Amino acid sequence: MKSILVAVAAAVALGVAAAQPARRSVTLVVVGGTVITQNAARQIVSPGAVAIDASDIVEVGTPEAIAARYRSLETIEARDDVILPGLINTHTHAPMVMYRGLADDLALMDWLQKYIFPAEAKTVSAEMVRIGTKLAALEMIESGTTTFADMYYFEEEIAKTTVEAGLRAVLGQTIIQFSAPDAKTPADGLARAERFIREFKDNGLVVPAVAPHALYTNDRATLVASAEIGRRYGVPVLIHFAETEDEVRLAREQFKTTPAAYLESLGFWGPNTLAAHAIWVTDDDLAILKRRDVGLSHNPESNMKLASGAAPVVKYLAAGVALGLGTDGAASNNDLDMFEAMRQASFLAKHVTKDPTAVPARAALDLATVGGARALHMERLIGSLEPGKRADLITVSMRAARQTPMYDPVSHLVFATHGDDVRTTIVNGKVLMKNRQVRTLNREAVIADANRLAAKVREAVGR
Ligand SMILES: [Zn+2]
Repeated sequence: MKSILVAVAAAVALGVAAAQPARRSVTLVVVGGTVITQNAARQIVSPGAVAIDASDIVEVGTPEAIAARYRSLETIEARDDVILPGLINTHTHAPMVMYRGLADDLALMDWLQKYIFPAEAKTVSAEMVRIGTKLAALEMIESGTTTFADMYYFEEEIAKTTVEAGLRAVLGQTIIQFSAPDAKTPADGLARAERFIREFKDNGLVVPAVAPHALYTNDRATLVASAEIGRRYGVPVLIHFAETEDEVRLAREQFKTTPAAYLESLGFWGPNTLAAHAIWVTDDDLAILKRRDVGLSHNPESNMKLASGAAPVVKYLAAGVALGLGTDGAASNNDLDMFEAMRQASFLAKHVTKDPTAVPARAALDLATVGGARALHMERLIGSLEPGKRADLITVSMRAARQTPMYDPVSHLVFATHGDDVRTTIVNGKVLMKNRQVRTLNREAVIADANRLAAKVREAVGR
């Protein structure tokens, strides 16, 4: 409002004729070859431009229309690029980039119990989390992720680093039944989660959350207490859910029911829950998830690498559940590239259904943008380029040999583009990367710190 008044006052002072309306002053305009809005009509504006004022998108239109209506403090010329909403990673463990490639080619339970949990017990600290999150943030900014959902320890360190890097995130303090690096008991973990939530409740970039690790790593009381914290503070509750057949077998043996029905019996589910994986789900389970408006995160690369199975994505899409896409931690992927996640989501669905029309490029792009926003229950703020939403967007170069020629930008984004093709990353109206130069993190220092820490990890786990 203030900027409109200033613009009008300036126009009056200069005696500009009424026939030539004053241009509104905005902070940033991005002019691109093609704008993929991901709005309800899935409108594509080519060529297109996006006007941004402070943290919000003001208008999307042709470059001429935007130039006629706005004058901007900063303009990013991206005429050869495709502009699209920043990608939303609905499930990761940011600091686990420090365990990238440490233990591969193992089943989930072996991988967790023989390698990851012991490595975490020896090496997770506030410092490790800080250094790991910086590295993860660098990778995410460089590959076009603007929002991520995280479950880990020392989540307040992850929050501080996320804000420093300028990314948006839903950050879940992990609750686990055994002694964790940041909490001796689940009660300590729950108290830590509450402190974390109170500290970051009103942050503009970070949504604090509580993250009970899984139903097989927490008892009934801890799961109930976690859900209770979610309700009391009105924050998300993140959990690993129905990831393996082992988990389903355990639920059947111990609780005489499915993972979904067990959590339903605890009153765990609600519109603030985000369940990662959701692979082994019956039709009755799906009805529960839909009725409770649970957000789901599909992690095709992690699921394939750990041979956990394939989530019934086609069924989920047909049922209209809130489904997003995730990479999972870098120890089970092994990167945070959401372009690859989109491609693998499409390929895996085609492969398991034996139907080449399953999860087409358009649907995969939806999963990584509007779908992720819905799964995080943030669809009013992010996921598409529309006036009033937060200015979270990226520009992607389409000039690589591997992207030539380009008949359909959506096809290329999903089937031919890599994270390295991202040129510009903007979150909350702030330019985090321009022409592949990250502005909020010192790239060399981040990588040097990670390598220094990796030497300690190597020593601790005897690799
Ligand atoms: Zn995970």
